[in-house]
Amino acid sequence: MNIKSFEDKVKKTIIKYKLCSKKENIIVACSGGKDSTAVLYLMKKFGYNVEALMINLMIGDWSKRNLDNVKKFCKSIGVKLHVVNIKDISGSSICYIRHKIQSKVKLTNCMICGVIKRWILNKKSRELGGKKLVTGHNLDDEAENLVMNLFKGKPEISFRLGPKTGIVKEKKFIPRIKPLYFCTNDEVREYSKEMKFPVLYSACPCSVGVFRRNVRKFIEDVKKIIPEVKENLVYGFIKDLPKFKKEYKLGKLVYCSICSEPSQNEVCKKCELMGILK
Ligand code: SF4
Ligand code: ZN
Repeated sequence: MNIKSFEDKVKKTIIKYKLCSKKENIIVACSGGKDSTAVLYLMKKFGYNVEALMINLMIGDWSKRNLDNVKKFCKSIGVKLHVVNIKDISGSSICYIRHKIQSKVKLTNCMICGVIKRWILNKKSRELGGKKLVTGHNLDDEAENLVMNLFKGKPEISFRLGPKTGIVKEKKFIPRIKPLYFCTNDEVREYSKEMKFPVLYSACPCSVGVFRRNVRKFIEDVKKIIPEVKENLVYGFIKDLPKFKKEYKLGKLVYCSICSEPSQNEVCKKCELMGILK
């Protein structure tokens, strides 16, 4: 692989889409996976003012090994790491939380985990003084999101996507940015292996999102006929995104009556889930 052209692509994405500046405090959401490790390394290499934030979901040995890897990696590149224990926020491991919730409502592991993680990442990065929250989303993730939203009959949800997420400005929302937006999953994996990053390449043992897995397979099947299908989806979407964002009317934002975080409803999704636990 051409390391330089991969790194240049990430740098160009940051500059072209004005993702962040070197004066801002940047928080990188780390999971221990190849994507977030690569983006953390690159943000630091490019000279951004970065700190890492990891949520320990307490998914057995998988979480322990990821946490060890992230700790070692941050130390080796001189980045300060903040770890949030899910137990300190929600009282138990993510496995227990989702098990309890799923005994009452039909939601997938990743739906539950995703809501809780987004809530923690936004709140914690704000408390750390972060102006932007970096995630490791890549081109494959975005292509899957676009197709999933389309299949759900809600293409407008995609208008919140893009290299910089969010439509409305809200002081309690930390904008999320995706410097790996135009890098494919294969490219990131190759880069991570060449750079010998200490990461686990196995999937999260709780990732049983059947819908996403099927969409991924669907896109791979289409790729056999249209090799550049993922790029077509993402580049085609991004071309018209500014227009979509302008026209999209988001419901009024309020503050959650329980946790005071920004929400579209009186009670935010995270507090709604926690309510089910009681
Ligand atoms: Fe959570 Fe799903 Fe990600 Fe596992 S794959 S960490 S369950 S969102
Ligand atoms: Zn809330």
